[in-house]
Amino acid sequence: MRISSNFDSGAIEVVSVDRADDIRLRLRADQGIEGDGAFRQWFHFRVHGGAGAALRMVFENASEAAYPDGWPGYRCVASYDRRNWFRVSGTHYVDGQLVVEHTPERDSVYYAYFEPYSHERHLDLLGWAEMSPYASVSNLGATVDGRDLDVVTVGRPGPGKQPVWITARQHPGESMAEWFVEGVLERLLDGADPVARKIREHAVLHIVPNMNPDGAFRGNLRTNAAGVNLNRAWREPDPLRSPEVHLVRQAMEASGVSLFLDIHGDEALPYVFFSTAEEVPGFSDAQRARQAEFVAAFEAASPDFQREHGYLPGRFAEELLTLASKWVAYRFGCVSLTLEMPFKDNALLPDGLTGWNGARSKRLGAAILGPILRHVSATGA
Ligand code: ZN
Repeated sequence: MRISSNFDSGAIEVVSVDRADDIRLRLRADQGIEGDGAFRQWFHFRVHGGAGAALRMVFENASEAAYPDGWPGYRCVASYDRRNWFRVSGTHYVDGQLVVEHTPERDSVYYAYFEPYSHERHLDLLGWAEMSPYASVSNLGATVDGRDLDVVTVGRPGPGKQPVWITARQHPGESMAEWFVEGVLERLLDGADPVARKIREHAVLHIVPNMNPDGAFRGNLRTNAAGVNLNRAWREPDPLRSPEVHLVRQAMEASGVSLFLDIHGDEALPYVFFSTAEEVPGFSDAQRARQAEFVAAFEAASPDFQREHGYLPGRFAEELLTLASKWVAYRFGCVSLTLEMPFKDNALLPDGLTGWNGARSKRLGAAILGPILRHVSATGA
């Protein structure tokens, strides 16, 4: 039996595979100059040669993960063909170790923290958008590893057009964020969809499907190739160490921002929720009213979204304005929200086979077009 992870978003440390019923593993730390050891949680690896064997895989250092609260109630995902991912019911968090018990039906099986979104799929999404009559793809510059940082622009600029920004995967292990963007783009570029048509009439959308392609390819949870947590770099982005934020912030200054959505996943909470902007200095009554309208419209648009469960006030303390959505709310005085989706499942609408997954993230992305239309038509000329 063999375990490998030398592929796109692969990450695991193998301690021993001598016995199928006692495979010893360790979560690998995010790679980067500064961040080594700081964050670990994402894993993605292949087991070969275990068909029919009752595998018992022990992640020895699970308690040292960035979010140990992510493990209770969590179930590992698995796939034979890398397309259809299912949850492994025999996943337990016991005495600080994550234990995954599974008897694979095939000799080749992949296990991951969440359904991956590959770099190839990312490039295919950009290529597909490029061919749409409603979109264009521009390169903002290069990432630390020299990958392309691209933005998809939808709608033609013109007087009174509302600039809307959507960014995803600042935290590269939160692959559900790019599935969400795929759902946004598929609906937004649909010539037959009346909501999409009206949005394109009122707004110009700037969509960054993956803010952190280096971290995604390296199999990081939180950081880019320089070890920087991009969602703590918005107040003072460094052109060399966090060029991804530096470049997007520059483009935002050029376009202005009337609505910003930053798409994430949360390890611990089994709900879809917004982190809102009330704590941002200068948050105005107008912002509060517009934010409330947007949140209510999303609640009406998708039963997967709720507003009862979320972060407690004060969570980000003095770091507040280093976060993308808080900095944008502060700088542009607009509606600016962080959307969080679960790594586990939506406890209000659970799915025993898949948990929360790529397909459900895509449907949620499609559903957010209703609230976007409401927002841009209310502020539009
Ligand atoms: Zn995140």
